[in-house]
Amino acid sequence: MYDCIVVGGGPAGLTAAIYLKRACKKVAIFEREVFGGQITKATEVENYPGFDRISGMELGNKMKAQAEDLGVECFYDEIIQIEKNGDVFQVITVDKTYESKTVIYAAGTSPRKLGIKEEEKFIGNGVSYCATCDGAFYKDKTVCVVGGGNTAIDDALYLSNICKKVYVIHRRDSFRAEPIKVSSLKEKDNIEFIYNATVEGIMGNDKVEALEIVVNDKKMEVKTDGVFVAIGSTPNTEILDNFFSLDANGYALSNHELETSVAGLFVAGDVRDKQVKQLTTATSDGTVAATFAIDYLNTL
Ligand SMILES: Cc1cc2nc3c(=O)[nH]c(=O)nc-3n(C[C@H](O)[C@H](O)[C@H](O)COP(=O)(O)OP(=O)(O)OC[C@H]3O[C@@H](n4cnc5c(N)ncnc54)[C@H](O)[C@@H]3O)c2cc1C
Repeated sequence: MYDCIVVGGGPAGLTAAIYLKRACKKVAIFEREVFGGQITKATEVENYPGFDRISGMELGNKMKAQAEDLGVECFYDEIIQIEKNGDVFQVITVDKTYESKTVIYAAGTSPRKLGIKEEEKFIGNGVSYCATCDGAFYKDKTVCVVGGGNTAIDDALYLSNICKKVYVIHRRDSFRAEPIKVSSLKEKDNIEFIYNATVEGIMGNDKVEALEIVVNDKKMEVKTDGVFVAIGSTPNTEILDNFFSLDANGYALSNHELETSVAGLFVAGDVRDKQVKQLTTATSDGTVAATFAIDYLNTL
């Protein structure tokens, strides 16, 4: 029986695990993809104190190594269900059930999809949600980035250094992204902005060949080798439906101790209902959730 099982090996979950282990608790952390979470997709991080510049993958690896060195049990596995019977949680993977006195749910978010029919068919064959992961496949080619926030602008900047041409397709006529990022992008000579545009279709046989877009009510075709979708994210709370309270957008609700409506079940990081989703707020949440999970354990 674990004192705590942490679901999600991103910055929030790894921080929580580090705090719990340093309080001499028996703790396991489960990660279904990459320890380090979303930040492993960032080419460079410049706003995490202590590191003036570090790649996201290196930062994620350092966080995992720190947890492991302390004795946190790190598992590569997906949690598919959580139940509670009496005071004990059952944390369930495809082939095993683990028991724990508390759970910290730190499953983060996943990129939002365009929601058009051809999208699924072309994932991996021209449709991507991660420029830093897949950009290199588009060296000297033409790509489109869809979106207008920081991620879209970061992606376009990154791709402009690899690709021949980058279209930025945005549904409004101004960007939500930080002005300094937008200014840097506007200085690039291989970038073309298409404003007031929505993506209606993806065309191609085996791989993406063109995008069908509507600009100011007029249909247009943009020839492209790839499309990078950067239109926000959705919380990974699907396995929690009906288990505890979520807000209208599916984000986890909690009190100021980050405990949910289920006693002993805490949330941390981007998965919860909060305004600022950054590394520092994720690690802060991990600290708070672990501290109150430790208090809860001391009352059992
Ligand atoms: C491209 C990019 C660049 C960014 N750059 C910066 C930056 O420069 N500075 C900054 O402060 N922030 C940046 N961010 C934001 C930052 O990465 C996030 O705020 C932070 O990673 C959130 O941490 P988290 O632990 O809450 O969630 P996540 O990082 O999303 O981690 C959650 C983890 O849980 C795992 N998981 C989900 N469901 C399950 C399950 N059922 N079972 C097991 N595991 C599961 C996921 O695979 C994931 O690894 C960036 C994000 C992106 C995408």
